[in-house]
Amino acid sequence: MRVHITLECTECHERNYLTSKNRRNNPDRLELTKYCPRERKATLHRETK
Ligand SMILES: [Zn+2]
Repeated sequence: MRVHITLECTECHERNYLTSKNRRNNPDRLELTKYCPRERKATLHRETK
């Protein structure tokens, strides 16, 4: 049931995080505030397709 996804920074489009999610709990695209090492600050990260 869990699928692997990549989280991409919405500001610089760096792919910073690999994670997994449960499709039943999160059917839509995930958005999380995460630390971006490239910009050295917390930014919004979004699941890539
Ligand atoms: Zn970034």
